[in-house]
Amino acid sequence: MRYISTRGQAPALSFEEVVLTGMASDGGLYLPEEIPSLSRDDLAAMAGLSYAEIAFRVMKPFVNGEIDDDTFRAIVEEAYATFSHDAVVPLNQLDANHFLLELFHGPTLAFKDVALQLLGRILDHFLKKRGERAVIMGATSGDTGSAAIEGCRHCDNLDIFILHPHNRVSEVQRRQMTTVLADNVFNVAIEGNFDDAQAMVKASFADQSFLNGTRLVAVNSINWARIMAQIVYYVASAVALGAPHRPVSFCVPSANFGNVFAGYMAYRMGLPVERFVIATNANDILHRTLAANDFSKQELKATLAPSMDIVVSSNFERLLFEAYERDGAAVASLLERFQAEPTALADAPLARLREKFASHSVDDATILEVIREAHHRTQEILDPHTATGYRAAERERGDAAVPMITLATAHPAKFAEAVVKAGFPGVPLPPHMDDLLEREERYSVLPAELSAVQQFVVENRR
Ligand SMILES: *Cc1c(COP(=O)(O)O)cnc(C)c1O
Repeated sequence: MRYISTRGQAPALSFEEVVLTGMASDGGLYLPEEIPSLSRDDLAAMAGLSYAEIAFRVMKPFVNGEIDDDTFRAIVEEAYATFSHDAVVPLNQLDANHFLLELFHGPTLAFKDVALQLLGRILDHFLKKRGERAVIMGATSGDTGSAAIEGCRHCDNLDIFILHPHNRVSEVQRRQMTTVLADNVFNVAIEGNFDDAQAMVKASFADQSFLNGTRLVAVNSINWARIMAQIVYYVASAVALGAPHRPVSFCVPSANFGNVFAGYMAYRMGLPVERFVIATNANDILHRTLAANDFSKQELKATLAPSMDIVVSSNFERLLFEAYERDGAAVASLLERFQAEPTALADAPLARLREKFASHSVDDATILEVIREAHHRTQEILDPHTATGYRAAERERGDAAVPMITLATAHPAKFAEAVVKAGFPGVPLPPHMDDLLEREERYSVLPAELSAVQQFVVENRR
């Protein structure tokens, strides 16, 4: 199995290379050259298996023997042993045929743990094998940095530096990062805003000479291994509800499109999926594109579902590549036009997307209304991201006989602000985190200057 770029110009890579590389040299994203298939028998045989065993079986063809089976199985088991629920990603029934897939039982209470617990371990394995070390740099506005830190804290061959804007991150979110006291974890509070932090990370990737040859690795959602890890829960949840003997639908709170694209990969591998509903907040580029063929950037809006606040959905490029029947040149030219001005998809690719995808956009007032309504009807308190999914699933349900699985992407305690605004007294942290506010913290405050940050990285990496 080789991996090819969505823009058709970069060299094909092995699994190991693709995990270490991130973005392709032609600006595209990597995808498997051939999509492996899961037969009806393969799916039927997964009924009743543990999540780790299903994960091993689903991901094995993508890994392509580049990690031996015993080692890969051990990596997968270790990654999902960090989850606080035996089912790893339990299904929770909301009504006769609507289910929540709870993806928030990992160490940082959001679905990104599912991919990052695995990615850190896979990276560490390959680096160890090569006798190399690597540095990870990332910027966070607060909500997602902790998942990367938790994914790397046990990795001997990785040092991770996460920049957050000083005094502009909620206390719970800061502490989820700064109370990880591992030797290879460095939290940097930048005296500036999130854009300053992100600009310094981007500049460091663009010119890596300050690291004198040490590899800089990105663990953002364009890394193929993150998509691969997310395919698993689509398969596992559909099997739990009767796949391959009956189809299901999924509703996915979406931003960079990595999560729902993983679902689409599961479908292309052979999982019977009736439809995917894409839920967005007020940052609705995905909804505008699908519903009105308006593929254009709009100004960023700060919403109650901040992990979905985006202008551009980076992983949408992967779906465009499939919709344009893997014509890399057509994808490259569409995205070039998109960067410059509002544009539109060609008719045939748009029609292909509309066969499988529906969409719905949910504004902040509706998020609050949905949190109240869902609690009234089910006793569940939804986090604001999941609330967009709950509403979109109901509005775009399709055939009511097909089970609808809405992905619950975060625990409500992680986004308590919205829950309180909806009129609830708040949500307690789960038991394994209830001493978070008493734990020791460690972080360094630095000015918003590239040279200061890079000097800090060079002096502290091991
Ligand atoms: C990252 C995130 C999303 C969006 O997922 P994408 O893969 O970027 O579409 C939704 N909800 C939460 C809580 C997230 O952290």
